[in-house]
Amino acid sequence: MDCVFCDIAKGEIPSTKVYETDDIVAFKDIDPQAPFHVVIIPKQHIPSPAHITKENYDIAGKMILAASEIAKMEKLDKGYRIVANCGEDGGQTVGHIHFHMLAQRNLSWPPG
Ligand code: AMP
Ligand code: ZN
Repeated sequence: MDCVFCDIAKGEIPSTKVYETDDIVAFKDIDPQAPFHVVIIPKQHIPSPAHITKENYDIAGKMILAASEIAKMEKLDKGYRIVANCGEDGGQTVGHIHFHMLAQRNLSWPPG
């Protein structure tokens, strides 16, 4: 299976990792939309938030824990945004579940 985020998790595609545990990797987005923009993924291949089930939902908690720990490490004291795009209308372009973590600028709401 061809998956760019699985390849990043395995270190087969280079990335700038900012955080890693047994289950989670976070790395700098290649096309940053804010001065701080990292992508948080599980090492396990789950295609999207729509594929979270009663069997695997613990990974979503680990992804949010990663964001919380990254925020402390990076001293994002003014806050941040976590976004999970899901499916075509959600604007998802990579079919491996991920959170965008954006910070260090004032982010508008609602999103476009
Ligand atoms: P989405 O559009 O929500 O699926 O987000 C995918 C994100 O992955 C985009 O923000 C891309 O810039 C980012 N991305 C894609 N390929 C890479 C890569 N090789 N390294 C880092 N970020 C990437
Ligand atoms: Zn994958």
